[in-house]
Amino acid sequence: LAPNEFIEEGGEKLRSIICCIMGHVDSGKTKLLDCIRGTNVQEGEAGGITQQIGATYFPAKNIRERTRELKADAKLKVPGLLVIDTPGHESFTNLRSRGSSLCDLAILVVDITHGLQPQTIESLNLLRMRNTEFIIALNKVDRLYGWKTCKNAPIVKAMKQQNKDVINEFNLRLKKIINEFQEQGLNTELYYKNKDMGETFSIVPTSAISGEGVPDLLLWLVQWAQKTMVEKLTYVDEVQCTVLEVKVIEGHGTTIDVVLVNGELHEGEQIVVCGLQGPIVTTIRALLTPHPMKELRVKGTYLHHKEIKAAQGIKITAQGLEHAIAGTSLHVVGPDDDIEAMKESAMEDMESVLSRIDKSGEGVYVQTSTLGSLEALLEFLKTPAVNIPVSGIGIGPVHKKDIMKAGVMLEKKKEYATILAFDVKVTTEARELADEMGVKIFCADIIYQLFGQFEAYIENIKEEKKKESAGEAVFPCVLQILPNCVFNKRDPIILGVKVHDGILNIGTPICVPGREFTDIGRIASIENNHKPVDYAEKGDEVAIKIVASNREEQKMFGRHFDMEDELVSHISRRSIDILKADYMKEMSTEKWKLLLKLKRIFKIP
Ligand code: GDP
Repeated sequence: LAPNEFIEEGGEKLRSIICCIMGHVDSGKTKLLDCIRGTNVQEGEAGGITQQIGATYFPAKNIRERTRELKADAKLKVPGLLVIDTPGHESFTNLRSRGSSLCDLAILVVDITHGLQPQTIESLNLLRMRNTEFIIALNKVDRLYGWKTCKNAPIVKAMKQQNKDVINEFNLRLKKIINEFQEQGLNTELYYKNKDMGETFSIVPTSAISGEGVPDLLLWLVQWAQKTMVEKLTYVDEVQCTVLEVKVIEGHGTTIDVVLVNGELHEGEQIVVCGLQGPIVTTIRALLTPHPMKELRVKGTYLHHKEIKAAQGIKITAQGLEHAIAGTSLHVVGPDDDIEAMKESAMEDMESVLSRIDKSGEGVYVQTSTLGSLEALLEFLKTPAVNIPVSGIGIGPVHKKDIMKAGVMLEKKKEYATILAFDVKVTTEARELADEMGVKIFCADIIYQLFGQFEAYIENIKEEKKKESAGEAVFPCVLQILPNCVFNKRDPIILGVKVHDGILNIGTPICVPGREFTDIGRIASIENNHKPVDYAEKGDEVAIKIVASNREEQKMFGRHFDMEDELVSHISRRSIDILKADYMKEMSTEKWKLLLKLKRIFKIP
């Protein structure tokens, strides 16, 4: 069976399964891909594995051979498996169509020696967001101390060769990782013990170095796909095609690498692609795939095709692709199609993203490598726990013009004059301009890290602001003078008081509402049990020293106020505003209530 032919099953033609590999950096994604691909590469084309653009194709026959030992009698109804070559977020976030995934299945790689890591969790969240079914490859089992290599063996067979200590260590680590998944709200179990497929996610222990467990992984992928997604895998003639990457290739100009999921593409066909500056209408100049493996040494040249059928990874050359956006759909203009309607639907992908920009016009600027990752980042920023508004977006490297756009916030809301750059480069000129203007740039290749950086930055700004406004922030407090505790009547006034309500800080201005709001000075120091403290809370009995700001205003106990007078902090409109802006965290509901009471006493509108 040649690649990309279809197997007809009860009148249904199924297409190949599209699969991608995700996980934390260094968990072994690339190595696993090599391993899946590897064994047969040396044997040339014997296995029928073909290199496509951005993907490797494994025909069913190859998978059947490699899983023979599992005795599963893998009656495969799909023609094969198309594994996307770029492991990680990028390809996955691009394999999208109207927000859902074009990827039928994913392999989530977890390093058995490390367990769940930040990008594992992020991959997990992406997979959930796009409702993509996945299997967990618990990789690097050969790193368990004392592991006996069983090259390319099914995992159960390989486990039987191991001694007790290895099995024990394996079980310990497995248990820990199952717990970690549980913490993420996910039930997981070794795939051969999993009785509840669909509810419980399967784990396949693997080694990408010696190949143990890889047959199991392959078999699971095809069996699971055939069992649960016949409808999704049923081939349709209507073209379904997504742009994976936009690349400049010497001799070809800007090209797009696409995954054709359904239908056929022809040379000379008119296509519409979503572009940063609007829809791109162009004509397919060439449909290219790499040369077969044995001829891989023929560098820089591609095989040309008059037509190509799904599922395939293809490079398309055409004019005007410079501004094409990875992660959007490619549309073919048929003889009866209305080109204006096509343009509109091509831009729908972009509009779904634009609609997430904050209407207030206040917010950070977000820049990512692809539309898919932009969508994922915007989705993340919108979640209630994060809640960062976005005022502008960009795709591709950060240029000066992006800094200018983000700089607009400097006048509106300074802390939002920020670019959150996910998985993109920042040009030197852009960075220089940003420094000059005071625009902050945060770069990361883990979405969660961006959030962390931005949050830390906002916290920092808050702390700075607090320091600036510290002198003007007045917390609400009501004090009662304690009997026989007037230690000094004036210059400075030293009294024993009980904090009747609220919180008393050093620096708080004290006032006597009962005596026409006489101000008696600011708290210079507080002592609790003869020890100096920075503040006193409700119920505390402390000694306080009150110092007037200038001598003329010097007030005296017995003349300006007395035992029965209540002392309160002198709040103002401004001090309330400062508390609201910078001290929300320090203000409990109880303190807000007291503040409202004082506000009425001071008749502050
Ligand atoms: P990626 O960043 O997820 O693509 O990780 P790589 O595939 O580049 O692997 C990272 C490192 O781990 C490399 O040094 C690999 O050789 C090593 N590695 C990957 N898989 C395995 C495995 O199964 N066993 C062992 N011992 N090392 C592995």
